[in-house]
Amino acid sequence: MQKKLHNWYKKNKRDLPWRNTKDAYTIWLSEIILQQTRIDQGLPYFNKFLLNYTTVIELANATEKEILKLWQGLGYYSRARNMHQTAIKIKTEMGGNFPSTFDELKKLKGIGDYTAAAVSSFAFGEAKAVVDGNVQRVLSRFFGIKNPINSSIGKKVFFDAAQKFLDKKNPALHNQAMMELGSLVCKPQNPDCLNCPLQEACFAFENNLQTQFPVKAKKLKVRNRYFHYVLIQDKNKTFIRQRIEKDIWQNLFEFPMIEFDKKLNEIELLEKIVAEKWIHKSDKFQFNYITQFKHQLSHQTLFASFWQLEFFTSKKNVIGFEKINWNDLEKYAVPRLIEKFLESR
Ligand code: SF4
Repeated sequence: MQKKLHNWYKKNKRDLPWRNTKDAYTIWLSEIILQQTRIDQGLPYFNKFLLNYTTVIELANATEKEILKLWQGLGYYSRARNMHQTAIKIKTEMGGNFPSTFDELKKLKGIGDYTAAAVSSFAFGEAKAVVDGNVQRVLSRFFGIKNPINSSIGKKVFFDAAQKFLDKKNPALHNQAMMELGSLVCKPQNPDCLNCPLQEACFAFENNLQTQFPVKAKKLKVRNRYFHYVLIQDKNKTFIRQRIEKDIWQNLFEFPMIEFDKKLNEIELLEKIVAEKWIHKSDKFQFNYITQFKHQLSHQTLFASFWQLEFFTSKKNVIGFEKINWNDLEKYAVPRLIEKFLESR
């Protein structure tokens, strides 16, 4: 069965840049960028990073600000920060060389089972099965595994099944083939079973149960949040701050923002702005609504409104915020939501 799978892969694989290398840095970079990201979306980022930082040492030498700026728009920014910290560790403690085993790789920040297996098998030929969403789907249908893919027991069951099914002599080829099969043939909707190399031994195909697999446990509740951004304008200058809290978008930059547990109207928002001391009694200003966006994150729905607060006389400072030129805003890494707003202007 594995032989058929490998032959299918050799004939049908897509030519992707990280497939033609055994360089651990290139493979690691592609795996970090492609987590929870479609290939067509991630590919330009992969190319950008590799162009700017050709080695892990060059990546380590960059500043976090530069990394976040290049990462902007990909989401899940903790991945970028972890990637940078891992690069620094590899440079300073390992002489710029990646560890070559699954167990050693897993000790690094941002590297879990999936990435450790991918790097150790693709770059160093270690017999470790890679298990991502595509592989889980293939395995669940092929073996008829009923454990939910998003449960902790399910994760172990799928890893064991993948490891058993792995061709230990050709782990890199086998892992790539399983991932590619899940991506191109054993798709979430309408799997192309008639062209599948695993068809003759597939449980779901034999029992016509493709739509029943993989099994998923109920989703976590999505939380609604209400963000009110206030663009404090002083001629061609504006105010921003860096988000330092342990929350979404840590270390990215944003305009002054008030979060409340419901959407505020103009009067309510002005009251909050006064309470924050962003304006004083003596200030003369104009306050206008600009626009609003709904922005979806994995477990949060953000309802963001944007407002403009323009002073008639120069506003020297707003406590807690940095005053910058509008034109310099593009040098700061901002969340996708703010990028969307800026693009709409
Ligand atoms: Fe998936 Fe169909 Fe292949 Fe089974 S036969 S592994 S369900 S594509």
